[in-house]
Amino acid sequence: MEEKSENTQGLVEQVTISRMRRSLSQLDENDRAKLGEALAGRRFVRILDEPPIFVYLGQDEDYVLIKDTFCSCNGFFIQVLGEGRKSHCSHLAALHNIGNNYIDLSGRLGLEEVFTVLLEVLYNNRSKTVRRMVYGTEEPERSA
Ligand SMILES: [Zn+2]
Repeated sequence: MEEKSENTQGLVEQVTISRMRRSLSQLDENDRAKLGEALAGRRFVRILDEPPIFVYLGQDEDYVLIKDTFCSCNGFFIQVLGEGRKSHCSHLAALHNIGNNYIDLSGRLGLEEVFTVLLEVLYNNRSKTVRRMVYGTEEPERSA
């Protein structure tokens, strides 16, 4: 019984991911705005080659993305995984369509630093390490 429900869960995840991958080129207004902003601002930073892991440097918060698969933003958890209302978030759409317009730090980070970056983003919603490397400063915290 338990095994069956695990299989069903796995199937649901596969369907979600394949639905998302099919739709990543079909951009709505939000997605296009995010893509334009990303192209202008060079907001995506590649931190690992395989799997392809990126950090999105946002105005207030940073997100971790696995290309075409996962994003750590609220929209992905709530609208994509939770409610199933959307098949992807605007960050995944922008990353899918951005070509080579990202900053590549993957050759400069060891695995330990990659883990540090992941923890920074997942626990603090900002990566000091990536911001220091990209901007030359950690950037002041959001003004109170
Ligand atoms: Zn996202």
